[in-house]
Amino acid sequence: MTDIFKIKELASTPVRVLVYEYLNEHQKALSLKYIESDLYDLDRSSIFRTLKTFVDHKIVHTIHDGSGSVKYALCQEGCNCDPSDLHFHFYCTTCEATYCLLDLPVPSVSLPTGFVISQANMVLSGLCNNCNS
Ligand SMILES: [Zn+2]
Ligand SMILES: [Zn+2]
Repeated sequence: MTDIFKIKELASTPVRVLVYEYLNEHQKALSLKYIESDLYDLDRSSIFRTLKTFVDHKIVHTIHDGSGSVKYALCQEGCNCDPSDLHFHFYCTTCEATYCLLDLPVPSVSLPTGFVISQANMVLSGLCNNCNS
């Protein structure tokens, strides 16, 4: 699992390993507040710094789901955070969990000449399968 640091050319540190493993276990997008309440051994600023480093190295992507706090989710293997790696997210308004919907096809958009997408905020919201049962 720590191969990811080798692939992304990032030094492996105990904090990075902890945060990475934590995100990997959850398979969901999580806010800094949520992560820090679970990883209470680590101070908030080192978690934040680690997440920022992960974003810079394309290990993690951020999601603005309208809940007011930025959420972080692990990127899939081979993700370069390019427009071709964009995917929908789903925000559950009941449990406030945010999921990456990796299997949902993203419609292609034809932009006017000269426009280039670098980011898209594709968030669907409603009830997740846990809250809907
Ligand atoms: Zn839910
Ligand atoms: Zn995602």
